[in-house]
Parts: sequence; structure tokens; C-alpha cells
Amino acid sequence: MSDSDSSTRSLNIVHLYPHEMNIYGDFGNLLTLTRRLQWRGIEAVVLDHHAGNPFPMQADIILGGGGQDSGQAVIQQDLPLIQGPLRELIEAGVPALLVCGTYQLFGKYFKTSAGQIIEGLGIFDLHTIGCESRLIGNIVTRSDTFGEIIGYENHSGKTYLGRDALPLARVVSGAGNNGEDKTEGIHHRNALGTYLHGPLLPKNPQIADYLISCALTNRYGSDAAVSLELLDDELTVQARRIAKSRPR
Ligand code: GLN
Repeated sequence: MSDSDSSTRSLNIVHLYPHEMNIYGDFGNLLTLTRRLQWRGIEAVVLDHHAGNPFPMQADIILGGGGQDSGQAVIQQDLPLIQGPLRELIEAGVPALLVCGTYQLFGKYFKTSAGQIIEGLGIFDLHTIGCESRLIGNIVTRSDTFGEIIGYENHSGKTYLGRDALPLARVVSGAGNNGEDKTEGIHHRNALGTYLHGPLLPKNPQIADYLISCALTNRYGSDAAVSLELLDDELTVQARRIAKSRPR
């Protein structure tokens, strides 16, 4: 541990556009991270980023949720302003979780079903095309890194990964990125993009702990992550069993 003892460890969570990009319970992702940190005696400091404000560079974890096409259009003026700092942080290995609407905007562009092009950040090698029909329902995927991932999807955008991009998971049941190629999400450096709401992290605590471990390693060295205390996730195990048995 380099600059603090365990009683004073703290992590900064930067929450992107909490007003516009926060639907289908995605706030639960922030809640899960803060609780899992607090249960381990680690302080969670939440820094909201709103359009027009300077970007908080002291990010240990970056979080962004889903949003309607209209919400995405509202924040599009701000995106170029935070592109440089965000790219720098993500490429340096800062862990991030970007869900649905924010996931799309981390790609190169999103062409809405109305034909509007919303320029993305270009941090993820992907693009998204809006369609008339929506991809809606419970979804189960499998990832080499995280095992089974369970969630709920609701999007009209179909996302296509670039040739060398690594999907987060393969679709077991549901649509995923586009309903065609069985890919779901993206895994780039320590950043995860996904269509899964639910919200994702309460249903998939292994992903919450991955984000926390990466952040602790970056800030305090690898020993800090190795000693991450296990939590009792029995209720989650039961909830996952029920969620999985629900029809799409
Ligand atoms: N507006 C996007 C779409 O429908 C994102 C939706 C969402 O974030 N759930 O594709």
C-alpha cells in the first residue's frame, strides 16, 4: 500500500451525466459500488459530472448509465469537451462501466432511427445504428472473465464492434449488441461497455468487485486488491436464480 493505511482508503467514483443518463434503475450500479466499498471500510466519494462542468480528473472508477436518444442528444455538446481526459484515464487503466446509452456514446457514432448522427467519444471501437424495432427483455450472457452475466436490455440501437474489439460476453439468451452476431458489450483495458440494465451490478457483484479491485490496484498497489474482503452474496445468488428463470 503506497499512500495510506486501510482505515483511510478511499476511491472516487465519477458518475457521468446523472440527470440524462440514468434509466431502468442504473443508479443501482452506483449504490452497489458505494455499499461494497463501505462494507469493506473503504470510503466512496461520488463526483457527479454534469454538462458544462470541468471533468473531475481524480477518477478511480467511471460510471455511466442508459438514456433515451433525446438525453443523448442533450449531452452531445459536452462530449467533445471531456473526450481527451476520459480517453487518457481509460487508456491508463482506470476501470469504468458504461451502460447502454453511455456505452453507445463511447463508440464512434450513434445514428438514431430518425437519421440524426450523434458523434461519440471514439474510445470504444464500435458504432451504433438505431432501428425501428426495440430489443427488449431479460438477457443471459457468458463471459470468460466474469462467468454468467444476467440482466435486462431495452434498446433500439444495434451496436457493431470493430474487428479487433473484444466483446464483454457471448449471448446465451437475448439480443446483446445487435441480435445478430451473439456478442454483448465490449471489454477495453479495464473499461466495460454493456447493454445490460437490471441494474447490472447488484445482480452481478463479480463485476462490481472487478471494478473495485482495478481501482484499488491503481491507487494503492496490487496488495490492496488481493486483500479485498469477500462479502456474503447469498441473497444475490438467489435473486440471480429467479431472474434467470424468468421468460424473456
Ligand atoms: N437510446 C438508446 C437506444 O434505445 C439507449 C437506450 C438505453 O440506454 N436503454 O438504443
